[in-house]
Amino acid sequence: MSSSASSVESGRAAESTPAPGPILLLGPPGVGKGTQAKMLVKQCGIPQISTGDLLRENVANCTPLGLEAKEIMSRGELVPDTLVNEMVALRLDRPDTARGYILDGYPRTQGQADWLDARQVEHPDNLPVIAVQIKVNYNQLLRRITGRRNCPVCETIYNTYMNPPEKEGVCNLDGAALVQRADDQEEIFVERMRTYEALTKPVIDHYRALGRFAEVDGDRPIEVVAADIVATVRQFREA
Ligand code: AMP
Repeated sequence: MSSSASSVESGRAAESTPAPGPILLLGPPGVGKGTQAKMLVKQCGIPQISTGDLLRENVANCTPLGLEAKEIMSRGELVPDTLVNEMVALRLDRPDTARGYILDGYPRTQGQADWLDARQVEHPDNLPVIAVQIKVNYNQLLRRITGRRNCPVCETIYNTYMNPPEKEGVCNLDGAALVQRADDQEEIFVERMRTYEALTKPVIDHYRALGRFAEVDGDRPIEVVAADIVATVRQFREA
């Protein structure tokens, strides 16, 4: 069976199980939120919503939002809450979120967390959100970020230190030239970490206080971390 056929199969199997509901993946840049979100899409049959990806799409398409966000993103700072919340609102209103969704890189400020809480109140049929923080030590994060290379065609993520492509700079799957995100350079990474410490750490405390919060160790093989996240979410839903 091809991998796309098997992921369709696993998606169908996931649809017959209880709804996973909204899952928030929290943690600093490079911790593996995007990679884990993609694993959860396959295992839980719900969509990944990455605000970073949505913003990059807007930048590439030169939309009014993209034009406003471009410079801010290139400095490693955060795009204003009102713009990001509006973008997330439009995405959450799509019907594929009915059984839940995986938010990757959102909320990143207390204002965004408050907006999401208010939306939950307006949608009382939605299951409560479960926040999962992925933890990895700083040096590991630095290697993950500065070594990260993406395939612009199939979106496979490589790492020049830990998961290099067979041929340097080229995607194993489709031969496309790999690219490095402009904000993955070390100086910008340091700024993104500063932003994370100042603005996103309080969001973690917010979800911890609400009690629907768990930490997982992200310094393990991808499949092990994914299994841990799925088990954690299931425990909360069955509690
Ligand atoms: P990411 O791919 O999640 O690391 O995001 C890349 C960049 O997009 C960030 O450094 C921010 O400039 C912007 N961004 C992504 N998500 C958000 C968010 N929730 N709030 C504000 N800015 C964001």
